[in-house]
Amino acid sequence: MKTNLPLLIMNDFMLFPCCEIKKEVNDSKIKKILDISEKYYNNYVFLSFINNNIGVVAKITLRLDMPNGYTKVNFKGIIRCHIVSINQDKDIDNAYIENIQIPQINPTEHIAKSKKIKELFLEYLDNKKSLGNSIIEKINNINDLGNLTDIIGDFMPLNKEKKEGLINEVDPIKRYELLKDDIAFELSLLNYENSLDTEIEKNLEEGQKKYILKEKLKLIEEELGIKENSDTLKLQEKIDKLECPTRIKNKLYDELERYKVCNSNSPEIGIIKNYIETLLSIPWNISSRENYDIDAIKKSLDESHYGLEDVKERIIEFMATKKHTKSKHNPIICLVGPPGIGKTSISKAISAALKRKCVKISVGGINDEAEITGHRRAYVGALPGKIISGIIKAGVNNPVFIIDEIDKMTKDIKGDPASALLEVLDYEQNSGFTDHFVEEEFDLSKVMFILTANYLENIPTELKDRLEIIELSSYTSMEKVMIVKNSLLKRLRMEYHLTKQELNLSDKTILYIIEHYTRESGIRDLERLLRKICRKFICYKIANNENMDINKHIKDILGSEKYNYQENYDNEIGMMNVLSYHPLGGELIKIETGLCEGSGNIKTTGLLGDVMKESINVAMAYLKTHVKEFKLDNNIFKNNDFFIHFTNNGIKKEGPSAGVSITTAILSLLKNKKISNDIAMTGEITLTGKILKVGGLKEKIILAVERGIKKVFLPLENENDILEYHNIYENKLNIVFVDNYLDIYKDLFKNLKK
Ligand code: ADP
Repeated sequence: MKTNLPLLIMNDFMLFPCCEIKKEVNDSKIKKILDISEKYYNNYVFLSFINNNIGVVAKITLRLDMPNGYTKVNFKGIIRCHIVSINQDKDIDNAYIENIQIPQINPTEHIAKSKKIKELFLEYLDNKKSLGNSIIEKINNINDLGNLTDIIGDFMPLNKEKKEGLINEVDPIKRYELLKDDIAFELSLLNYENSLDTEIEKNLEEGQKKYILKEKLKLIEEELGIKENSDTLKLQEKIDKLECPTRIKNKLYDELERYKVCNSNSPEIGIIKNYIETLLSIPWNISSRENYDIDAIKKSLDESHYGLEDVKERIIEFMATKKHTKSKHNPIICLVGPPGIGKTSISKAISAALKRKCVKISVGGINDEAEITGHRRAYVGALPGKIISGIIKAGVNNPVFIIDEIDKMTKDIKGDPASALLEVLDYEQNSGFTDHFVEEEFDLSKVMFILTANYLENIPTELKDRLEIIELSSYTSMEKVMIVKNSLLKRLRMEYHLTKQELNLSDKTILYIIEHYTRESGIRDLERLLRKICRKFICYKIANNENMDINKHIKDILGSEKYNYQENYDNEIGMMNVLSYHPLGGELIKIETGLCEGSGNIKTTGLLGDVMKESINVAMAYLKTHVKEFKLDNNIFKNNDFFIHFTNNGIKKEGPSAGVSITTAILSLLKNKKISNDIAMTGEITLTGKILKVGGLKEKIILAVERGIKKVFLPLENENDILEYHNIYENKLNIVFVDNYLDIYKDLFKNLKK
């Protein structure tokens, strides 16, 4: 028989055929294997050891997910099989297994050996004194030597290596030989132990009884000279060599002592070893040598990234100050902006320029502070948190540590990850950061943290105060062209082994790709398309033995155009353009309004958020309370129902900045005047008609220029904010700054045709 089963590696437990085992697991990978087994394999899995080709088919007879996150599982061993091959399937290992041919046994030998092993085992039980009868009953009913050796092997308190040896031995006769020796050894230990009992009892008082077993083991190990085995010696050597504070070394020696006296069958032994190994892997005193060559840092950043001047300037300033003052203090920089604009890659480039190691974690979706600070090690399967794990991965105590998506953490009953992160970042506290698993202080003050987020307003407030926020905004099409020319193409030429003549795109072609095949703030899609061009170019060259002129064949390579950049259809009465900003860049949305006889209800559609809905109420209230100025009939609001719809239904709309556009759309409806589609506006409106400052201006201005808008109304309060973008809008947009809605009204509703 040959079949496929999900492969589960036995690390801290053993399962023999004919036997059962109960386990509690909290490992997401194991849970995934259990899920897949339940869904596709009728609850069967294949248990084996690492790098081994023998294992046991097991049936999951019970699975119970408990509220504390652990899962109770009962496995029942069925049969030994042999692994033919291992494949990856659904992110887990899948073993292709086949039955094992068991050698024929002479019947007389079979009976004699079954009898012998039973006798030996009964003698062992007899000497052990304190055991129940169920195992005796069980083996009395079994005569098959293979099954007997498995059941007894499972029962005996043998160490991991011995049990593994028994599971791996497919021949019952050979298994019998191994087991016989093991039982005989255990018997001799028992006899010796019994003779020591009297001696120990003399030395111990009644209250110390719980130490008896350990004391016994110690004496036996000393007597047999097996105390210092190669495993403990190796650990001892590693601890001796570890560069770390003395307190850590002392702690490690203490743990090693506990490890030496711990019973090899106790689950605690794995926990202690894991702890020792974790402490050994932490780079307590290892640092990267920093690069203080300011010119070289600048050159390196300029080579890898075009633009992003604010970030580069901050890093240069920081390194220059550090060089000058010899201060150890690191800034906590937080890069905020839409996806794909280079937040992560410039952070990596910074680490390369500073010649520091780099490590990246993401805290998006985290709702449990233990993910940051670790689980207490008393929990089975406990691990250090993401910070210490990151430090271990970096291998130094002063890496550039990127923490991604800090605006996507959530807070719930499991705790507040943001406050845990605060402890990590705060310069005052982080020199003594204590992970719950590690239990010892680790100095994080040498780490340079760079955080990234998409939305400024979603960064937890308590964190925001400690960060140096650098806002990065979307790129204009021309900026994208410059990035491609100055950075991306160079990188791709190296990666795909292409020369400048081969991968040669004109500015016009690059702009054409940007405008007709991408719609994004950053350059991720653009990069993907350029990679596609490289691949197609190489295939063509190999097939035809000549170069393809990419500029001429861009449509053949990329297929038909995906976007028409001037897409901005005509407005009807009651419609108005909205310049909206979201992480994918600016988006031109249209508000449509309508009314019918009714009683003053307002129905809104278009995936609107709460703030947006409030803007609609404010706009309505503003119009109702200013009917005189707008020459409106008061009854029009009482006797009609209003419908307000925002187009682009796929995008969730939020924020107050559509206030002025909503007011204008309703006025257009009520005054029966069409507003041209080359006019747009942005601004929050208040009940008095005051127009308040808004964000995302660069994106909105880029959008207006790209969609053929000619005139834009902006809040007066934003007047200074747009100066730095003058090269984007100069000679293209007529920008009118307004302080009160009446300014817009006068401009639009006095001169428009009916
Ligand atoms: P983010 O972290 O902001 O989502 P990434 O760092 O993943 O974005 O950037 C996406 C891709 O765009 C990367 O390959 C990056 O190198 C490239 N990129 C973005 N901005 C620039 C730039 N200014 N210069 C060079 N490459 C850039």
